[in-house]
This record gives sequence, C-alpha cells and structure tokens, in this order.
Amino acid sequence: MLVFYCALSTCSNFKGYYVIRFDAVIHFAGLKAVGESVSKPLLYHDNNIVGTITLLEVMAAHGCKNLVFSSSATVYGWPKKVPCTEEFPLSAVNPYGRTKLFIEEICRDLRNSDSQWKIILLRYFNPVGAHPSGLIGEDPRGTPNNLMPFVQQVAVGRRQALTVFGKDYSTKDGTGVRDYIHVVDLADGHIAALKKLSDPKIGCDVYNLGTGKGTSVLEMVTAFEKASGKKIPLQIAGRRPGDAEVVYASIKKAETELKWKAKYGIEEMCKDQWNWASKNPFGYGSLESKK
Ligand code: UDP
Repeated sequence: MLVFYCALSTCSNFKGYYVIRFDAVIHFAGLKAVGESVSKPLLYHDNNIVGTITLLEVMAAHGCKNLVFSSSATVYGWPKKVPCTEEFPLSAVNPYGRTKLFIEEICRDLRNSDSQWKIILLRYFNPVGAHPSGLIGEDPRGTPNNLMPFVQQVAVGRRQALTVFGKDYSTKDGTGVRDYIHVVDLADGHIAALKKLSDPKIGCDVYNLGTGKGTSVLEMVTAFEKASGKKIPLQIAGRRPGDAEVVYASIKKAETELKWKAKYGIEEMCKDQWNWASKNPFGYGSLESKK
C-alpha cells in the first residue's frame, strides 16, 4: 500500500486560480513484512524501490525537492555494538532491509547530483503503541510479524500464545532486546524533521528515531500484561533466522540537531496499545472480515 503525506501550501497563479504547491513530502509508504520479502523479493523491490523512484521523479517534475523518508534500524543489520550511531556500517540481512538500504543510497546519489534536494532519512527503531484516543492503531493483515501486534492479538483472544523466538541470547533474560518507541513520539519526530528541512545545512542527512533504551521480549510482555490485566501465555521456540540479538539507538544526533526526544516509556506504549486493542479487538474490521 502506498500512502504519501504532503505538506501543502497554496498560491495563486497568473490567472488568479489557486494551485496547490507541494513544499515537502513525507514518504512512509512501503511493504514491511520481512518473511514475505524473502518469498516475494520482486514485489518488495518493485513496490518499495520503484515506488520511491517514481515518487522522486514526480516530486522533481513539480519542483518539490524536500523529502523525509522512513528508513529503518534494519539497515544496521546485526550491529557489532550498541547503541547504534548513524555512522555505523550499513548492511541488510533480508530483501526488505535491502530495499531500505537501496533507497537510502538512491537518496544520497540524488542529493549528490543536485544540491537543491534536501532529504532526511529517519531510521525507525521499533514503533509500537497506538494513538491515545483508541481510534487509530495497528491492524496487520494475516499473522502479525512483529512482537506487539502479536501480543495484542493474544490478549484479545484471537491467538492462543506468543511464540518467543529464542531464549538463549546473551541478554538479561535470554530474549532479544529492541528499542521500542511510541508511535506518537515517532510522529513528532517527523514534524521535527520537516522543520529541519529548512536548515540550509541539510543535504541528505540521517537521524535515528528511538528512545535509546533496550527492552527484552519478556519485559515487553510483562509491561503489556500489567497494562491490560491479561495473561499472555508463552511458547519458547528457537531463534528467528536473521534476528539480531540487541539493537537500540544512539539518540544524541536527533536530540541535538532535530531538538526531538521521545517522551513516552513502555508503560504508555502498552497502555495506549491496549486501549486501542480492547476497543477494536478486530482492528478496523469485524470478526467476520478477519476469518
Ligand atoms: N519476537 C518474538 N515473537 C514474535 C515476534 C517477535 O519473540 O512473534 C521477538 C523478535 O525475535 C525480536 C523482538 O521480538 O527479538 C522484536 O521483533 P519484531 O519483529 O517486532 O521487530 P524486529 O525484529 O524487526 O526488530
């Protein structure tokens, strides 16, 4: 699915008609299921990469050369150390990750070819939670790939147990550690990036959007159980191929240059996600539509 958000302004042309002018584009469209990208690489390369090239061409044709792009911490691959700083070497361990990496490179090439482009690449860590209103939340199709949508579906009774991928990592409790960030903080990070585009120093620049804190799978489950009052049964399984052990962000650059910092912790993430889930146990559809 492709969704583009555009910052718009209007101006009148020589005939006095109002025309829409695009000041900037936030491009957060793309397919994102790692497993599906392994079985359908062409779909991912076509949708994510070709889709982005088309968007960039259309932007250039309309004289709009300001872009904020949703990249991902997946471009750090299995980081040799943490926290991940923006200067870390980049790698991809699956076709989905490769699409993010290639798009970053395309953006760097584009900026090198034409200094009018101003591009900010935002490397998301693990977005979770929902809008506090309970009206907007995540509703994946089919079996959720990510941890928290799966936990949420167990809590509302749609799935029996959470499969924990690996309990033999060298982490505090043996489970994988990630940097979970509330979607509302993530959204604020985009506003900060949009504002930053007006800084003349911006070329093609990259910022991590994370909290800088690592949380294990079991810690997330415990936080969700507390927020929801529901028990999440667990099944311990082997490691998921391609999964890194510990990934969390260095947040210094975003804090200093974007003047942005995540406000919410895992308690708020789980509280808001449960609020959405309990009000919408079948997401945007009905039970029938999910069968
Ligand atoms: N995970 C898990 N069970 C699941 C989904 C994820 O144990 O059903 C673990 C996964 O191994 C990782 C963490 O939860 O350690 C976050 O996984 P997710 O897919 O949400 O994000 P990513 O691995 O892309 O950072």
